[in-house]
Amino acid sequence: MKRPIPPEDLLLNESELIDFMPAPELEQWILETFISEDGELYNEDHRHISPWPTDLFKVLWASSAFINAERMVLGQCEKFSPMAGGWRKARQEKQMLDWFNCVPKFIITIDAKYAATASDTDFCALIEHELYHLGAKRDEDGEYIVSQSTGEYKYELRPHDVEEFHGVVQRYGASPDVQKMVQLVNDEPTIGKAKIAHACGTCILKLA
Ligand SMILES: [Zn+2]
Repeated sequence: MKRPIPPEDLLLNESELIDFMPAPELEQWILETFISEDGELYNEDHRHISPWPTDLFKVLWASSAFINAERMVLGQCEKFSPMAGGWRKARQEKQMLDWFNCVPKFIITIDAKYAATASDTDFCALIEHELYHLGAKRDEDGEYIVSQSTGEYKYELRPHDVEEFHGVVQRYGASPDVQKMVQLVNDEPTIGKAKIAHACGTCILKLA
C-alpha cells in the first residue's frame, strides 16, 4: 500500500483558477489505512465511519491551497449541503454525481501540491485532521445516536477541540482545553515513524 500521488495535471496547473479532481485512490487509501480495523494506522476514534455507507464521504484533490484569514488552507472537510431550491440545488448535486456517482454527505478536499511534497507524517496528520471533522452525534453515555428514519448515525461536522488566542493564554494561562493539548504535546506521539512509513510505502531504511 502506497500513499497516493496527486495527478500531474493538477501539480503542473499554475493557473489562479483552482481546479479539482476526484480522488478515489486517496479515498481508498484512507479507508484501508485509518478506517479498516486491519489498517496500518487504524484509529478507533473514526469507528463511526467504518460501517460507512459508500456515500458518507468523498475526496477531492485541489490544484492549490487557498488563503483564509491570513492562513493557508491545505485541507478541508465540509458537509455537503446544497442551497435550497430548484436549479441551484440540482446543479450542485449534478456536480457531485459527475465527480463521484453519488451525492456524498461530506467532501474532503486536499491541496495536491502540498500532498506531493509533504512528509509522510505531515500528510497523515492532515488527512486525519480532516477525518476528525467527520463526526457523529453521541448521547450522554457516549453512544452514537442512530437516526429513526434512516438507521444511520447522525453525522455532523465536528469542531476543533481547542480554539484559543495566543494572547489569552499568555495573559491568563491555559484553560482546561489548552492544558489537555499541552499534556498531549508533552506525551510522545502514539504512532511511530516506522508505522507511518509503512502505511505510506516509504522505504523503511530511510528512517535509520
Ligand atoms: Zn480543521
